Amino acid sequence: MCQVDEEYNGQLEHRVIPRVSKKCVKCKENTAVLIIRAGDAFCRGCFKEYFIHKFRAMLGKNRVIFPGEKVLLAVSGGPASSSMLSQVQEGLSRDAPKKLRFVPGIIYIDEGGASGQSMEERERAVAQLESVFRATNYHYHIVHLEQVLSLPSSVLEAGSSATEKPQTGSSYKAAVDQFIQTKKNQHPVPSVKNAQSHLSSLSMHEVENGVTSPITPEHTQALQRLFASVRTLTAKEDLLHTLRQHLILHTARTQGYTKVMMGDSCSRLAIKLLSNISLGRGASLATDTGFSDPRYGDVVIVRPMRDYSSKEIAYYNRMFDIPSVFIPGLDTKAQDKASIQHLTESFVTKLQTDFPSTVSTIYRTSEKLHTACPPQNTNTQPVAKCLLCVCALDTKLEEFSAYQATLISEQLSQRRGPGPGFTRGTAAAPGLPPASSASKSQCCSSGGGQHQGCMTGEGGCFSSAKEPETVDLKSLLCYSCRLTIKDMTVEDALPQYILSEAERRKRRSQMREEISEFLLDEEEDEAIPRVNGSL
Ligand SMILES: [Zn+2]
Ligand SMILES: [Zn+2]
Repeated sequence: MCQVDEEYNGQLEHRVIPRVSKKCVKCKENTAVLIIRAGDAFCRGCFKEYFIHKFRAMLGKNRVIFPGEKVLLAVSGGPASSSMLSQVQEGLSRDAPKKLRFVPGIIYIDEGGASGQSMEERERAVAQLESVFRATNYHYHIVHLEQVLSLPSSVLEAGSSATEKPQTGSSYKAAVDQFIQTKKNQHPVPSVKNAQSHLSSLSMHEVENGVTSPITPEHTQALQRLFASVRTLTAKEDLLHTLRQHLILHTARTQGYTKVMMGDSCSRLAIKLLSNISLGRGASLATDTGFSDPRYGDVVIVRPMRDYSSKEIAYYNRMFDIPSVFIPGLDTKAQDKASIQHLTESFVTKLQTDFPSTVSTIYRTSEKLHTACPPQNTNTQPVAKCLLCVCALDTKLEEFSAYQATLISEQLSQRRGPGPGFTRGTAAAPGLPPASSASKSQCCSSGGGQHQGCMTGEGGCFSSAKEPETVDLKSLLCYSCRLTIKDMTVEDALPQYILSEAERRKRRSQMREEISEFLLDEEEDEAIPRVNGSL
């Protein structure tokens, strides 16, 4: 028996040795410790160099973060965003000429209230993260998801300074040179203060470092009620994502940050790309998955981790002791089929294990995507943007689109019972924002559905002009957000800032419609505020 064992061991050793002793493909000196892709075996030192280079190359290639700019790092505690934090630390501490030159801050959104964690669990997670954040010496903001209930409705307005800085290579270079010259060995003064002063009157309590205003059990209950009113996990995850973005955006604006860094890895983006298509977000894929996401105007989201696979990140974090904190989310322990997002994730990761180029293939596709409509077409007026995700409304389509066809078939299938469902369905039908539908008739559908809509019964149209009395959210939302709201049992459970902004936009578009005859097409935007003031 001993003999067998010995022989077996000898065989094992024989097999393992050639792989372990393989040399690093880069320096060709040291022993390789890991294989990133087939054929790419790296030693420890070269892997670190490669990893760090990738981060700075991504920022250098895109040139959107200017020297001295305040950048908010969105850290969830997970491996990718923790790794991003360590890369920023690394980049800022270097003395090399290509050192990063922005002013970082950290934000963590505590979502425990939505995913049903107990207060103790949440406090423990926050304490763990705080110790990580404190070690960085950066400003950090810990925001509870409950604070979404006290957000001002101005969060939903898109800012307007997107074209302020021309992002050409030469101006970037000039900015860098100027920065180096004026820098006097101390912390650079954040150049953007107008946003901060403009929004300083807003309500959220913000402590310089640390946890923001304490949360009350009432707030947590209200948040739980909100999430309980959503029927599917798919919609819950989508809603949570939306609310989280609003909180990050609000914190960025009130604290004077002009860029937000998200830690989306390319594995995460590949999953996001596929699941967003399934969620009906095809029209905004480019902004949802691209390197920079300018949808908010004054605050730009960037995704500098998009070249790393989750495997690379996991290896790096393990090798160089990057701390990360596991915090259970909405879909932790959920079954694969619990939500579209979760199912896509398990589909992609399972496919990736057998076909290692899956993620990169999907991810390369995302790099080729651009928004279809040219920017000059989408005016910066808030009406043209989705109330929730702040993307350009994709429901403003011509008559013979797949979207109109979907609406018509939805109407037809709801016709059988002319109950509340029917009126609700037709209320959704005027997909065209009122600005473009000049006709005053509030008939069933302003688009292609007109014939079918009015043909039925002698009773005529079910959706009378009285319908817009209650705030009808649907016409203010993009296709995907409509689906999310559709999964809610009570729309009124939405946080107040969303409802009041919806009401404001509705009033505004009604007024625009009322005075539309007196407006010249081009001057609509300027004319409205004047009329507003005279009332
Ligand atoms: Zn090496
Ligand atoms: Zn939307």
